[in-house]
Amino acid sequence: MSQVKYTLTEAQMPASWYNLQADLPTPAPPVLHPATGQPVGPNDLAPLFPMALIQQEVSQERYIAIPEEIQDIYRLWRPSPLYRARRLEKVLDTPAKIYYKWEGVSPAGSHKPNTAVAQAYYNKQEGINRISTETGAGQWGSALAFAGSLFDIEVVVYMVKVSYHHKPYRRVMMETYGARVVASPSTETQAGRDILARDPDSPGSLGIAISEAVEVAIKDERTKYSLGSVLNHVMLHQTVIGQEAMAQMEQAGDYPDIVIGCTGGGSNFAGLAFPFIGEKLRGGRDVAVIAVEPTACPTLTRGPYAYDFGDTAHLTPLVKMYTLGSTFVPPPIHAGGLRYHGMAPLVSHVVNLGLVKPRAEPQLACLAAGIQFARAEGIIPAPEANHAIKAAIDEALRCKEEGTSKTILFNLSGHGHFDLQAYLSYMEGNLQDMQYSTEALQQSLASLPVVAE
Ligand SMILES: *Cc1c(COP(=O)(O)O)cnc(C)c1O
Repeated sequence: MSQVKYTLTEAQMPASWYNLQADLPTPAPPVLHPATGQPVGPNDLAPLFPMALIQQEVSQERYIAIPEEIQDIYRLWRPSPLYRARRLEKVLDTPAKIYYKWEGVSPAGSHKPNTAVAQAYYNKQEGINRISTETGAGQWGSALAFAGSLFDIEVVVYMVKVSYHHKPYRRVMMETYGARVVASPSTETQAGRDILARDPDSPGSLGIAISEAVEVAIKDERTKYSLGSVLNHVMLHQTVIGQEAMAQMEQAGDYPDIVIGCTGGGSNFAGLAFPFIGEKLRGGRDVAVIAVEPTACPTLTRGPYAYDFGDTAHLTPLVKMYTLGSTFVPPPIHAGGLRYHGMAPLVSHVVNLGLVKPRAEPQLACLAAGIQFARAEGIIPAPEANHAIKAAIDEALRCKEEGTSKTILFNLSGHGHFDLQAYLSYMEGNLQDMQYSTEALQQSLASLPVVAE
C-alpha cells in the first residue's frame, strides 16, 4: 500500500493565521448593539474580551502573525497529520480519493486548543488571570482548561447540565487541568436562577451556559469571557488546520474537489475550509465545500438568516447568522458540540453567498459512518466528526455510482474516547434519531429580535 500519512516539519507550520475577511466579495454584516441597533464598537466588547482579540475580530488583514509563544505551544501537537483513507476507499470500493486532516492529536483531543491557547495568551498579555466560559459536550471546556493551566489563568466552566451528568470524565479532565466546573443552569448567576425558577429540571443548553459565563465576566472586571466557536477571531485561529492541509495535499500531489466539515458553531469547518475558499476567491482553484450539521439542530438548512442573540438571556450583541432562535433547545443528541442554536457569522455569510452547501444528517446514520470509519482506519471519531465522515462516504459512493474519481478532504475534528456511551447505545440498539419539536422551533423563531436593516 502506498503512502497514507503526510506530515510537515515544525518549520513548515504556518506562521500566520489566514483571515477570510480580506478576500470576501462583500463584507459580513456588522455586529449590532441590541439597545441602539447600531454597530458595536471596540469599547462595547471590552468588558468581555482582551483588545487584541477585539481587533482580530474586525481585522481586514489577510494574514495575522502567530506570536512565537503560541507557536511554541502549538508545536506540542502541530503540525497535525493528514491521512489518505486508503482502507476506507477500499471498503467502499470507490474510485474517489479520500483524505482527512486529523485534529484529535491535541492534548484535549480536538481542534479546540488551536484557539484556546491563542485566547489564553492574549488575555494573559493584557493582565487577565480569570476567564469564564461555557461548554456543551466538554470539548471546549477541556481545551480552555488546558490552555489556562499553561498560562496560569483561573478558568471557570459552566457546563450544560445534561453533559455534566452524562460525561463525568470530561469534567474530571477539566478539573485535572485546574478548572472549576459548574453545572448549568446554576444558582451562581441571575441568568441561571431565572431559568431554574421557570424550569427547575432544565437540562441546560449552550445558550443558557453562555449567558451564565457572560454575566460573570460583565459583573467582574477582572474576569474576561472566552468563546470556543462562532466569533471571527475563533475562525481565524483555526485556519492553521486548512493551511497545513493545503501544504500536505501538495505533498500528496493532489488538490481537493470537495472539502467537508461538520458544523456546530462553525470553527473546525472554517479552520479547514476558509483557506481553500480564499484560494478560490482570489481566482485560484475551484472547490466544492460542504457543511454538515445534525438534523436535530438544523441551523443552516432550516433556520432563517437573521439577526439574533448568541445566548438565551440576551446579554450578547446581535449577530447576523443562520439561527433557530436563541431560546431553541435542541434534543440531547450525542454530538453535543453541534447543539448550538446559531452559526458563526462568517460561516453564515459564505453559506448565504452560495460558496458553501449545507446538509443535515441524522444521528444513527452518522454513528454507522463513524463505526465504518473506525473499522477501516483505526480511529474512533467524536460523534460530531461523524457528520463529516457521513458526508465524505456519501460523496465517495456517489463517485462510484457515477464512475467519476474525485478528491475528497474532510476534517476529523476530534476523537471519541469520551463519547463511547454514544457508540454503546448505538451497538445496543438503544439510539434513536431525535426529532426537534417544530412547535418549539416556531415559537423560538417568532421571538427573533426585530432589526431594521
Ligand atoms: C466542538 C466540536 C465541534 C463543533 O464545534 P465547531 O465550532 O463547529 O467546530 C466539532 N467537533 C469536535 C470534535 C468538537 O469538539
